[in-house]
Amino acid sequence: MKTWFATPLWQRVIAALVLGIIVGRLWGPDAESIKIVGDVFIAAIKMLVVPLIFFSLVSGVAAIGDLRKLGAVGGRALLLFVITGQIAVWLGLALGTLVKPGSGVDTSAIELGAVPEPNETTWRQMILEIVPQSPVQVMADVNVLPLIVFSVLLGVGILMAREDGGPVQKIFDSGSVVMQQVTILVMELTPFGVFALMAWVAGTLGFDALIALSKLVALNYAGCLLIIFVMYSAMIKFMAKLPVGDFFRGIIDAMAVSYSTASSNATLPVTLRCAERNLGVSNSVASFVIALGATINMNGTAMYLGLATLFGAQIFGVDLTWGQYFLISILATLGAVGAAGIPGAGLIMMALVFGAVGVPLETIAFVAGVDRIMDMMRTTTNVSGDAAVATTVAVMTGEIDRAEMVSADDV
Ligand code: ASP
Repeated sequence: MKTWFATPLWQRVIAALVLGIIVGRLWGPDAESIKIVGDVFIAAIKMLVVPLIFFSLVSGVAAIGDLRKLGAVGGRALLLFVITGQIAVWLGLALGTLVKPGSGVDTSAIELGAVPEPNETTWRQMILEIVPQSPVQVMADVNVLPLIVFSVLLGVGILMAREDGGPVQKIFDSGSVVMQQVTILVMELTPFGVFALMAWVAGTLGFDALIALSKLVALNYAGCLLIIFVMYSAMIKFMAKLPVGDFFRGIIDAMAVSYSTASSNATLPVTLRCAERNLGVSNSVASFVIALGATINMNGTAMYLGLATLFGAQIFGVDLTWGQYFLISILATLGAVGAAGIPGAGLIMMALVFGAVGVPLETIAFVAGVDRIMDMMRTTTNVSGDAAVATTVAVMTGEIDRAEMVSADDV
């Protein structure tokens, strides 16, 4: 028991993954019986989504402290979040289309539930659905986008109420910290969930399924590395006009912590310290952009949602039109915005995209066993993006101390 908890979670997860594959191969199709453990694990992550987004987003917006700053810094940050998010999704779609990681898998052993009808959502409906008619209903339905709208409005309301909003703000600050602790508890289930899901996949679906999953993992890593070392490097070099090497040296701690925790939220304090101490970003810009970014700026997740949707379409033989590619690009960006900065959040967001283009939701259970290894890389990408945007916005608004960045070389 002591050794169990003394071993870092990620090592237990990798061990569970390997063991799951071995047990599944030996056990064969009867491994289906253990899948329930994996389903419980996915349900437990789902349970966290609404309260986490609600508390962390309200508390993040309220932390800005000033409505005018919200406009100046927020506008630029949001623009960069959206543009880089779109590039990321299209990168995922391109990788999925070129490499076709999901083709050639025999999925006849997976019992499909009701295959969602491709949603003929019109623009009018989409816009209407984003406005929460009833916040309680939105929470009960785990409807993330209207929840985000409501949470941001509530945060702005707290800012507008000034001192009178203080007690409400305290509730949300504390709620956000408490939810992060609950998340840590749920994460202890990860090795069991991963073991069960891998045993199920390896036992019931055979070797070609494992090969397809390895291709998906490899593409996830390739896409994330491209985003970090090409897109963010270009942003730092051409928009912020700063030395790229110094930028990455400055955020190395945040990259390491995000990779091992798979949580942008858990890495938040380290990202903040790196941005302020090593990159010279002012405290106000860093705390606002990075806190907001930890919840809504997730380029690794956006890329992955595009890639995973094509993967699901390929394994289940769903043909997608160009129109649906565009729908995926929008929904994957929104899904990344809606994903909480916790392990496995990207996995839950898949339902949003899959449902709209008719990809069976069973894909989620299929990829869930390898999700953690991909999540670690996605999170590193997400966190590096928060730092890159904070640095660029700081340069644009004159809120950076270059001497600080140079002196970090000596540390
Ligand atoms: N774990 C990621 C994060 O915290 C979100 C995801 O699952 O993609 O940034």
